[in-house]
Amino acid sequence: MTSETEAIAAVLARVQLLPGARVPLIESLGRFSAHDLWAQRALPPFDNSAMDGYAVQAKSCRGGARLRVIGEQPAGVDRGLTMGAAEAIRIFTGARLPAGADAVIMQEEVMREGDVIVARCDVESGEFIRRQGCDLAAGQKILAGGDQIVAQNIGLLAAQGMAEIDVGALPRVAIVSTGDELARAGAIPLPGQVFESNSVMLHALALGASAKVVMVEQAPDALEQLTETLRHGLECDALIVSGGVSVGEHDLVRPSLGALGAEIALWRVAIKPGKPFLFGRAHGCSIFGLPGNPVSAFVTFLKFVRPALRKMAGASGENLGLRAVPAQIASDLSNAGDRSHYFRGILREGQFIPSGLQESHALFGLSRANALLRLAPGDQLLRGAPVMIETWD
Ligand code: AMP
Ligand code: MG
Repeated sequence: MTSETEAIAAVLARVQLLPGARVPLIESLGRFSAHDLWAQRALPPFDNSAMDGYAVQAKSCRGGARLRVIGEQPAGVDRGLTMGAAEAIRIFTGARLPAGADAVIMQEEVMREGDVIVARCDVESGEFIRRQGCDLAAGQKILAGGDQIVAQNIGLLAAQGMAEIDVGALPRVAIVSTGDELARAGAIPLPGQVFESNSVMLHALALGASAKVVMVEQAPDALEQLTETLRHGLECDALIVSGGVSVGEHDLVRPSLGALGAEIALWRVAIKPGKPFLFGRAHGCSIFGLPGNPVSAFVTFLKFVRPALRKMAGASGENLGLRAVPAQIASDLSNAGDRSHYFRGILREGQFIPSGLQESHALFGLSRANALLRLAPGDQLLRGAPVMIETWD
């Protein structure tokens, strides 16, 4: 049985970054930047007013001073105005600061009498002015290659005047669920059947991992039909198979992949849940065989498939895995087994609370969970112990 660390390394060593694309900014959401990017333009691009009010010279704007209003500077144009001492220019938020001004007095702090304002307070030089470049200097790095793009990044890129960005690919993914016991959504389950739920859960996980799902199929535990279905799946960048990777007579994924000429790089990993996990390659496609039990499928997706898809999509090293977060455990936990045990739980106010039944079929507990906690074999932790947990999306 392969250790978990060796398994992750073996998977990542075999998947490659896919060729990327230039896309409109909105389509870059959740994808990974293909390069480092530097600011072409300072922000703010020019000195401007932070308030609706009057541009003034601070030294002549003391409480009670009367200043003559000599013009108006709205946002969005540059009227090229110049002012001197004891003068003021009506100005609006975001408008370029007129030459000669070194402060803005808020309109709430003046009384207007015709073309004169009377200041109600003293003004400091620089007050209510946003200086050119105070937020961001031209030439400053704004995004690193491999960073995942979020809404805030898109806002900044747009403020740089960019309409498009180079990003990594969306890996094309096929999902195949296997098992004679699976009833399709909408069908009436026969006695002994359960509803097929892994494919849609894996589809959701794949979308969250920056992938594009192009095929979702269900195959019976029959060698010929399964092989045909998997053959189609191999046309994608990644094929995710659920079920049929254990050691029973009805577990036909390995023989099917054998018939298709796949190289099986690893099978069976020392983690719980998820021991039967399989990884292989065929015709440029990365193949992930996940156990059928829903919790096992979920955990092995997060631990092995997600980083692989993210690598294909252009994520940098530190963005490949789950996010580690410090927490304290809310109850005693131990691992008497010989494999790493991933507990599913709820991270709330710094506490990790195991959620529901910790068994590989127990979907309800999983449905509450937003974090994983790994206990190594032999670990015995008492309530309150500090731990690092892992979170996703
Ligand atoms: P397997 O890994 O094929 O031995 O499947 C183990 C168990 O997982 C099955 O007996 C089912 O109860 C469950 N299972 C397998 N595939 C699915 C699926 N696609 N959706 C929901 N449950 C599944
Ligand atoms: Mg099965």
